[in-house]
Amino acid sequence: MNFLNFFDKKAPSHPPIFFLNSASGKKEEFHSLKPGVVSMYSCGPTVYDHIHIGNLRAYLLPDLIKRVLIYNGYEVKHVINFTDFGHLTDDADAGEDKMMKALKREGKTISLSAMREVAETYIQSFKDDNDAFRNIPPTKYTPASDYVADQIRLIKTLFEKGYAYETSDGVYFDIAKFPKYGVLGKIDLNKLKDGARVEVNSEKRHPADFALWKKGLLGWESAWGKGFPGWHIECTAMIFATLGKQIDIHTGGEDLKYTHHNGEIAQAESVTGKPYVAYWLHNAHLKINDTKIAKSLGNGIRLSSLMDSGYSPLVYRYWLLTGHYRTAMNFTFEALDASKQALFKLKRFVFEESKNVKEGNVNETYRARFHTAINDDLDTPRAIALMWEVTKDASLTLADRVATLKEMDSVLDLGLNDEAGDVVRELGVIAKDDIPDEIQELLDKRQIARATHNWSEADYLREAINLKGYAIEDTPTGQKISKS
Ligand code: AMP
Ligand code: ZN
Repeated sequence: MNFLNFFDKKAPSHPPIFFLNSASGKKEEFHSLKPGVVSMYSCGPTVYDHIHIGNLRAYLLPDLIKRVLIYNGYEVKHVINFTDFGHLTDDADAGEDKMMKALKREGKTISLSAMREVAETYIQSFKDDNDAFRNIPPTKYTPASDYVADQIRLIKTLFEKGYAYETSDGVYFDIAKFPKYGVLGKIDLNKLKDGARVEVNSEKRHPADFALWKKGLLGWESAWGKGFPGWHIECTAMIFATLGKQIDIHTGGEDLKYTHHNGEIAQAESVTGKPYVAYWLHNAHLKINDTKIAKSLGNGIRLSSLMDSGYSPLVYRYWLLTGHYRTAMNFTFEALDASKQALFKLKRFVFEESKNVKEGNVNETYRARFHTAINDDLDTPRAIALMWEVTKDASLTLADRVATLKEMDSVLDLGLNDEAGDVVRELGVIAKDDIPDEIQELLDKRQIARATHNWSEADYLREAINLKGYAIEDTPTGQKISKS
């Protein structure tokens, strides 16, 4: 039997899925290595601090990929790692170790167990933020310190195959032995050599050779002395241990593309002689005042601070989805305010204006357009625009519009499939019984002012209500108020 035909028969039937593959720089049609199942790995955070809203964008990407693939009938095996030791502050193998920095900051002793303790706190915080943001948890989380033996074994294999060499401070990958190096971002090794800054480590054969093992006083025992595995080796070792030698999809923020991911490819393909990853997907950065949000720059806003300022995690999710994952976005509170309003209107449509309608059917035309949009390299801005089109399409019954929106939201997850009660609370919309008397009085006066076309009085009363910390929206069914 023809192998490929057999695969085709078993493949789920769906419109083609396209991803922009960073390896080719082109949109490519997606085919999984095994029928119906997709393996995906996402570089996780260095757990020396809480994550910021920029990091969340990097985990929204695999969440969307997963939801889109599930929508298309696939099963997805997804792994996210935690870098819980020895990650250096910059891409080169120099700079201060971030985990060490955290130990000092928190007044802890410098030990492996203290490092693990610090990591646990930030691992939990990472999970909490991702849950609040509605990212589906991966099939497995892998803390790098649980896979040290795998990493050492892999370095040993690289050594035996002649891809590694030892220096006084560690073990390095010999980039000259892997001519394909730099496929991501089309890096020219010769240019790297010419343009390299004065090398601190004169024992390295090429400035781009990267550490597989760093010798030190702290760490694990190995054939090359005590120390830590290098940064890139952890991801390759954990992929091999959990997903196999070849995977379908690998994700990460665009900053990881050039050094970390090219390093991973070099390590993996030198060992197996086979392609490592079929599709590389990278998200663009979230910026603030046109500067990348980064923990090390100290400009990292946390999801919890947005919540303290009255924005639900879903408002932030909505805003991110209005941009394409490969487009840099600049965070502003004005933009978030607009998203808050938009999500409020969308939810009001689903939960209030359509409250008493019977169950409807998903409209096939919109379903097909939505499917094409999300299958086209995760085009969420187009998907959101379609949702708005559905709300306004008077040729559809209210019930069918709601059913269509809810199906679309199984992929985007803006809370349109939640229980109505929760939505009202989560958006800060106040139930009638909970409105304080003094506010209710002002609302009643404003309603009279509006009914009698006394617009200046109505505006004055709106301001008075705003000053007391409440926002009003005039809707076809009357004034709606929420905590501002
Ligand atoms: P880190 O903990 O710094 O290794 O980052 C974890 C993930 O977040 C990586 O995939 C980074 O590329 C990504 N990331 C970091 N900063 C940003 C940002 N400002 N916008 C989007 N992704 C980011
Ligand atoms: Zn990684």
